[in-house]
Amino acid sequence: MLRIANLRGGYGAGPVLDGVDLVVASGEVVSVVGRNGSGKSTLIKAVMGLLPVALGTIELDGEALLGLPAHQIARRGVAYVPQGRGIFPRLTVRQNLEIGARAAGAKDGIPGDVLELFPFLKERFGQSGGTMSGGEQQMLAIARALASHPRLLLLDEPSDGVQPRIVQEIGELIPEIARAHRLGVILVEQNLDLAMAAASRIVVLDKGTIAHECASERFRDVDVQTRFLAI
Ligand code: ADP
Repeated sequence: MLRIANLRGGYGAGPVLDGVDLVVASGEVVSVVGRNGSGKSTLIKAVMGLLPVALGTIELDGEALLGLPAHQIARRGVAYVPQGRGIFPRLTVRQNLEIGARAAGAKDGIPGDVLELFPFLKERFGQSGGTMSGGEQQMLAIARALASHPRLLLLDEPSDGVQPRIVQEIGELIPEIARAHRLGVILVEQNLDLAMAAASRIVVLDKGTIAHECASERFRDVDVQTRFLAI
């Protein structure tokens, strides 16, 4: 569904991504791990059209995304949850979700299936987003992204600032959502437990290229982790 080929690019001063090839099927969750600064966030920014310099190929269901502005990429079915969540803290839960629903041009308001996945949000409709806990804000950010009914979901470090119990919940929810909605997911994560729990496949990025790719179960091998992450 998503096909990235020979992706190169960066912020101008020199390449950060140095020839990335990656395919993500619909319904599949792929975790991207790697040392700090290896280019993980940059990779999903490139998919979302947020990287100043990008060359190569990014296609969603055969349609070229590379070169389109982010809002048009959103309309083609890509949703992005940046690190730090990117919710509007002063707006209410309802307003945050409505903005998500409108991002892809939907006019019917907040989809019921999204609220079914996160029932607690219904009880918080009137609350401003910024007053919720880190984990709740992360759930809101994911719900907001799903409200546009994307085909591809890009998540940057959803574990950041979130308590372990909610991290585990997110790890269970992501593959469930992917399966139920035939949604492709790229999950960028430092938390290897979450990366492995949520995804069927792990991709290790190192200095802007893919250094290793394997099934999540295989990545449980500490030798493999040490070899590719030098932890
Ligand atoms: P990771 O997500 O793997 O920690 P990033 O993709 O955030 O890595 O960063 C990769 C490289 O790009 C780093 O060297 C970082 O300093 C650089 N970088 C990230 N964001 C910017 C930016 N906005 N402007 C310039 N350089 C950046």
